[in-house]
Formats: sequence, structure tokens, C-alpha cells
Amino acid sequence: MKAALVKSEGNFEIVDISLPKPGPGEVLIKVAYCGICGSDIHLIDTGLLPSDCVIGHELSGWVEACGEGVKGWEKGTPVVILPMDSCYECYPCKSGHPQICSNGIHRSYGLGVNPGGFAEYMLVKTSMLFRIPKTLDLKTAALTEPLAVAIHGVKMLGAKSDDLALVLGAGPIGIFSVYALKARGVSDLYVSEPDGFRAGKARAIGVKAVIDPAENMPASFIHENEGRAPEFVMDCAGTEYSIGEASSIVRHRGLVVVLGVMMGQAWLMPLICFAKEVRIYFSFGYHKSDYDEAIDLLGKGFVDPRVAISEVLPLQDIGEAFQKLHEPGQMKILIDCQAG
Ligand SMILES: [Zn+2]
Ligand SMILES: [Zn+2]
Repeated sequence: MKAALVKSEGNFEIVDISLPKPGPGEVLIKVAYCGICGSDIHLIDTGLLPSDCVIGHELSGWVEACGEGVKGWEKGTPVVILPMDSCYECYPCKSGHPQICSNGIHRSYGLGVNPGGFAEYMLVKTSMLFRIPKTLDLKTAALTEPLAVAIHGVKMLGAKSDDLALVLGAGPIGIFSVYALKARGVSDLYVSEPDGFRAGKARAIGVKAVIDPAENMPASFIHENEGRAPEFVMDCAGTEYSIGEASSIVRHRGLVVVLGVMMGQAWLMPLICFAKEVRIYFSFGYHKSDYDEAIDLLGKGFVDPRVAISEVLPLQDIGEAFQKLHEPGQMKILIDCQAG
């Protein structure tokens, strides 16, 4: 089978390797599409990935073969996978938060430990499999993982339909957060995004306004239009300044949820947070129930794949696809793992 190996220089090499055989409790997945995540780029940039590993954790595909003892998964069943293999025995797991189980991360798939989805096939455990409905095509289904990230973050807000929310950044996670907020009935929704292409995508979903932070201060723009500050700010920008910006925009006793990953240090003005008693939550990963919700929303056609997906490229062009994500004018890029 073909697989894209990450080389020590951070580029990819497409190689032919032998097809893995599913062991007891394992299933071989024929990968249809695998999306490129911001965390894939971060993983490569840190230089911490083992050489020649296969990454990719946002995938859809079909069951190809089952290992010993696996029942109920027919060949050809369309599925998506949850890439963390949480232990359900440690403190976070037992307290109801398997998404922050460190065992789950250390036994994850497509994040530098076990091989992932930028390949024609991959092995997974049955506990990580989710069936998808017939109404859901596999391209759209590959959006399940990033949509579940946004759903998990939005659940932390506890948002009600009459709340005012601002999303900082309209990259894929920002766009999925807008969808997740809309699914919760929040309609007083603003987005701040400097990139014209991404701003257009947010407008296409239907928000009250997309603010270009280079032209307007989001805080004063929203105040002029609403007469109040937002109850919630979702930081999906993940820049050095975005947490500080979110905490200065949010209303008194408001809530900031951070979804945008930033690898370095961030700027924050504690005095502003003290003065308003701002709460800042960090959201990581998802529960199985967030996956169920994401699959349900995608199956109902709630997310327009033309908004969320900017390009689909074959596995052999994966290097080019990663390059494209460093340029403006992109949203989610999917890799077609069976093409060419
Ligand atoms: Zn992801
Ligand atoms: Zn655990």
C-alpha cells in the first residue's frame, strides 16, 4: 500500500509498504479522505516527530478486514475514527474527561505514535470506530474530528440562544465553531478575521457581521451595533495575542474558550481579567458524545462542505497540500488517499 512518511527534514516521501494485518480487536481501514489539521503542521514544525512516521487523524473510510474476535463490523462499512485511545482507568478518565487522558495521547493514532490516515490503509481498534449514516458522503464525513473539537469547546460555553458570541479567527476551527454555535441556537454571532477568503466563508454561513480587525476594533464594532460586549469569545485564532484580545473584548464575568493551538508563549493582561473577573477555559479534544453530535449534524447537511473544504488533493501531492496551508486563501484541505 502507499503511505506518506514524514521525513526528518519535515517533508513527505510516498512509499510502498506492506499492508498491515489486523490483530485481535483491530480493524483494517481503507482510508477514503484524511484532512490536514493545524496540529499536523505544528507536529512537523516542532521537529519532535519520529522520522518515517505516518500522521493524519481526520479521516473517513471503509472497514476492509477484521482481526480475531472482532464482530459486527462488515467489510465495506463506512466509518470515521476517534484517534485517541483513552484508557478509562486514570484520574481524568474516571472523572469523566477521557479527552485529556495522557494514555490516550500516548497511544493515539496519526499523531506520531501509531500510524495514521495519510496512507491507503491504517489499523485501528474497534473502540475508536464510529459508523456513519448513509446520507453522509465520505468527504463530508472526514470533517467529523474538527467539528467535534468545536462542539466540545462550544459545550464548555453553556451558551443560550439569546447570548452574544464572538469567534476570533475563521480558519477551519473558527468555521466549525460558528456551525456549532448555530447548532446551539446562538444567532447573535460575530466573527473577526483579517483574511478576505476566510471572512467570505464565515459570511456564507450567515453571521451578523465579519469584522476585519485591521479596519475595526472588534470590541467597539460590536458595542456600536449591540450596545453590549459579548458573553462569550472563542479564541480560534491561536496567535500570541489572541487570548489577551479575547479577554479584553469579553464582557464582565464573561467566558473565553481557547481552541486555537499556539505552541509558544502568549500575551495576557491579568489586570483586565481581574477587573472583569474573566473566566478563561482551554478546550482539548472531544468526548465520544461530541463525535455522535458531529456525525448527526454532518448527516443532516448542517455543514456545507463547499464552505469547509477548500481543496481535495491526491496522496502523492501531500507535500504541496501542506505548503498551500502556509498561504492565504485556504480552509480545510482533504487528502484523497485512494486517488492516483
Ligand atoms: Zn484535527
Ligand atoms: Zn485515562
